[in-house]
Amino acid sequence: MQFGIGFDIHPLVAGRKLVLGGVEIPFDRGLDGWSDADVLTHAIIDALLGAAAMGDIGMHFPPGNPEYKNISSLKLLAGNQRQNDDRRLANKQHRCHGHRRKTASPGIY
Ligand SMILES: [Zn+2]
Repeated sequence: MQFGIGFDIHPLVAGRKLVLGGVEIPFDRGLDGWSDADVLTHAIIDALLGAAAMGDIGMHFPPGNPEYKNISSLKLLAGNQRQNDDRRLANKQHRCHGHRRKTASPGIY
């Protein structure tokens, strides 16, 4: 069994939307960040990446990358799920050949 623990913090600031779990919450401030700063979804992504020994969210979706500016974190979660699916498929293929690859190195295939 694999498990991961996710944790995230963003400061509350004026002029931003507050998004938690992909839901916009009416509030006078929002979370500051490069993406939509959805701390709940970020923590889930980190937990999934940790469970798969694939590093953390910053490794896969680095702040400063214009591709992720103000992006919905649900899209990052979907992209992360696709990476995990690819990883499971790769592991199955390795098992089929009797040489299951060790996966301790994050993100290395
Ligand atoms: Zn975050």
